[in-house]
Amino acid sequence: MELNDDQLQVLKWVHGFAENVARPAAHEWDEREETPWPIIEEAARIGLYSFDFVANCFADPTGLLLPIVNEEMAWGDAGIALAILGSTLGVAGIVAAGTPEQVAEWAPQCFGQAGDIRLAALCVSEVDAGSDVSSLKTRAVYDATSDAWTLNGTKTWITNGGIADIHVVVASVESELGARGQASFVVPPKTPGLSMGRKFQKMGLRASHTAEVMLHDVTVPGACLLGGKDRFDERVARARAGRHGKSSAAMATFEATRPAIAAQAVGIARAAYEYALDYAKQRRTFGRAIIEHQAIAFKLADMRTRVDAARLLYLRAASMAMTGKPFTAGEGSMAKLFAGETAVWVTEQAIQILGACGYSRDHPVERWHRDSRAYTIFEGTSEIQRLLIARAISGGAHSVGGRGVAGA
Ligand SMILES: Cc1cc2nc3c(=O)[nH]c(=O)nc-3n(C[C@H](O)[C@H](O)[C@H](O)COP(=O)(O)OP(=O)(O)OC[C@H]3O[C@@H](n4cnc5c(N)ncnc54)[C@H](O)[C@@H]3O)c2cc1C
Repeated sequence: MELNDDQLQVLKWVHGFAENVARPAAHEWDEREETPWPIIEEAARIGLYSFDFVANCFADPTGLLLPIVNEEMAWGDAGIALAILGSTLGVAGIVAAGTPEQVAEWAPQCFGQAGDIRLAALCVSEVDAGSDVSSLKTRAVYDATSDAWTLNGTKTWITNGGIADIHVVVASVESELGARGQASFVVPPKTPGLSMGRKFQKMGLRASHTAEVMLHDVTVPGACLLGGKDRFDERVARARAGRHGKSSAAMATFEATRPAIAAQAVGIARAAYEYALDYAKQRRTFGRAIIEHQAIAFKLADMRTRVDAARLLYLRAASMAMTGKPFTAGEGSMAKLFAGETAVWVTEQAIQILGACGYSRDHPVERWHRDSRAYTIFEGTSEIQRLLIARAISGGAHSVGGRGVAGA
């Protein structure tokens, strides 16, 4: 797949940021385990962290721009990339379920502007509902008199949770309908009742903030139900009549974000492959560069092959999604599954190629390995992706307990 001149130009610009800003700052923010505000500020200053840039990516008619930007950012550093791109998860939730008017109102507020940065979060997962999102316990109750919704519940493992200005919350309205009785709500900035719970200390992606979000009698106007009440009522009526409607609120979001998440995993894998290749050309044992030992050269050959294969899978999925071709064989899940597992495998090979240096924090490959582990867990675990592919290719013979779509 060839990229056009416009895409190549954007890619070059993003690569410059990844190489000169994100990569040099990566170790520091991994150690600090804090949101890298100065780096997000810099991204906002040059227009990389902005609604306009993300809107341009979403508008690319080939569908490839958003994922290739994700690969490049994660090549720089995945933790910083997630700190910068995490808001697009919230935007994806708004775009997937919202009306054009709601997208126009809320999406720009997910970014703010340089000097006045805003963040967004997508809140799906709960303690007892990670893979099995059909059993969400967060409830949304409608009051017709005041035309307002009240949300109660606890979300967990939320990227930008509690520090975001806009929280997109998926909640159950008609619990007996499972996922088809769920809806997405925008919780506007400073809404009383929303607070941050525990912040998680993670193995990797430590520059990205992950925390619980507590919702205690959070009341939002009726207009904050994404898609609107009429459309939601129609969906509920269809579900009650046993007719299949469109996918659930959360599922629609994950379909859209999977190629971009796969692309981030490819970015990490590519970084580790390149680093290991350079190292293998420099490091000498038994009188020759270690790349001249076939055991090492073959490892690198396999690493490169898997990185390229993973990229082709996400490019295919992104292109199919944009051109409206259905994922009849779970192509989106294939991309996410293969890219996540490739990142874990390639980063592990890189550690081996670097020997003791690979095990040291003096070199980035151990960080890349820690970062890569999240990519077989979030946005649907590898097991869930396999179930989705199996279900697609077997014509639905493999049910995915609950509904089998995992949170972001
Ligand atoms: C860094 C990070 C950031 C995150 N950010 C967000 C976010 O912004 N928003 C959000 O909503 N969530 C987020 N999450 C949560 C994430 O989506 C969930 O952790 C994920 O969906 C898995 O859910 P779980 O952890 O509850 O695992 P579980 O669902 O408890 O699964 C445990 C194990 O059982 C397996 N399993 C479960 N069901 C089946 C089945 N039917 N068949 C076979 N195997 C099965 C799983 O694959 C896994 O191996 C984030 C997680 C991480 C690590």
